[in-house]
Amino acid sequence: MPQEQYQRDPFAWLDAEAAARRENGTDRVVRPRPARSPLLDLASNDYLGLARHPEVTDAAASASHRWGAGATGSRLVTGSTALHAELEVELAAFCGFEAALVLSSGYAANLAAVTALTGRGSLVVSDAANHASLIDGCRLSRATTRVVPHAAPDGVARVLDEAGDPPPAGGAAGRTTGPGGRLGALVVTDAVFSVDGDAAPLAPLAAVCRERGAALLVDDAHGLGVLGAGGRGSADAAGLAGAPDTVVTVTLSKALGSQGGAVLGPARVIAHLVNTARTFIFDTGLAPAAAGAALAALRLLRREPERAARARSAAGALHTGLTAAGLAAVAPDAAVVSVRAPSPEGAVQWAADCRAAGLAVGCFRPPSVPDGVSRLRLTARADLTAGQINEAVRTVAATAPAG
Ligand code: PMP
Repeated sequence: MPQEQYQRDPFAWLDAEAAARRENGTDRVVRPRPARSPLLDLASNDYLGLARHPEVTDAAASASHRWGAGATGSRLVTGSTALHAELEVELAAFCGFEAALVLSSGYAANLAAVTALTGRGSLVVSDAANHASLIDGCRLSRATTRVVPHAAPDGVARVLDEAGDPPPAGGAAGRTTGPGGRLGALVVTDAVFSVDGDAAPLAPLAAVCRERGAALLVDDAHGLGVLGAGGRGSADAAGLAGAPDTVVTVTLSKALGSQGGAVLGPARVIAHLVNTARTFIFDTGLAPAAAGAALAALRLLRREPERAARARSAAGALHTGLTAAGLAAVAPDAAVVSVRAPSPEGAVQWAADCRAAGLAVGCFRPPSVPDGVSRLRLTARADLTAGQINEAVRTVAATAPAG
C-alpha cells in the first residue's frame, strides 16, 4: 500500500487511552501460564479441583477422538452429539430442573436466557453487582432495565410494584401476549456474586417475584458444585430447585473444571430458548471435549458429593485466617474470598508481591468492580490442604500494603 494511505491514523487515540491506563494502574496484560505452575493457585475457579482430574481429562480426550476436536456446526445443524444430550439430561436432573440447554459458555447462557425471555415492553430488575454477562443480556434484550441496590429484595419489590400492571388472577409466572410475547417482569441476579463471593437472598427474592407474577433468573456460575446438597447449586440450597417460575444459568468452567454453560428450567422455557435464543442458534456448539469433560466431572461430583463441602470449608478457613491476620476479608458464602485493597495500584502490587512469594491470587479493580473498590480475590478449592491454606494466609498477610 502506498504510504500516503496511512497518513490519518484512525487508532491514534488508543495510545492516549493505554497511557492513561498505565498511569492509573488499570492496564491489563494477558499472561500465559505454565502447564505446571510452581505457584500455589488461589486464582483459578477450579473449585473442586476437577480440571486436572484424570477421569475428566480422559473424558475430554476420548470425546475428542470419538466426535472430533470441534462441534463442526451450530447445535441445530451438526453441533449436537450424544454427549451434549446426556449432559443436558444429567445436569437438569442433578440440579432438580425439568430440562437444560448447553451453550458454548456461561456468558452465552446468560445472554440467551435474558434475551429470549424478555424484550421491548418487558421490565428487567437487575442487581447492581450482577455479572457483565447478565448486564449485557439486559442491554441486548431491549427491555426496560432497572438496576436495584445490591442484595435488597425490598428494592426489587418496590420497582415491581411501581411498574404496576398486576399479573392475571391465578398468579401466572410470566405474562405473555401470545406468539412473539415476552415476560412482563424478570428479576435477574447472580446467586453468588463473583467479586465479593456473597450469596444473593434467593428465597426472599423468589417470594417477592412470586407475589407479583415476575419470573426469577439466577446465575449460579459460582454456586454449582459448591452450594446445595452435594453441590446441587444455589437453587437447591434456597429450596427453588424445579420451581416453575425460576430459571438458572450455570457455567461448566468453574466447579466442573471444563468449559461451556447451560440454562436450566421448565421444559417450555428450554424449548423456547432452542427456538429463539440467538446465542444458541447462531453459535457453534460446545466442543465435544468440553461436553465430555463436564459430564465426567458431574458424574464424579455425584459420586463424591463431599467435594462441595470441602470447598466451602476451605473458603471458611481462609477467611478465618485472613481476618485473624487483621485483613478486611468478606465472609464467604461459597468458595470465593475477597480481601479489600487500598487502591487499584495497591491491589496490583499486592497480587504481584503474592506471586513473587509463590502464591497466585486474583486482583479486581475498576472498571471490573462497579463500586470502585479494588480487591484481591482468593478462590478456595476442595483439594487445598490445611498447610496450603495457612501458607496462603501467611503470604497474603506478609505482603499486605500498609494502611
Ligand atoms: N456469570 C458469572 C457470575 C461469572 O463469574 C462468569 C465467569 N466469569 C460467567 C457468568 C460467565 O461464564 P463463562 O466463563 O462460562 O462464560
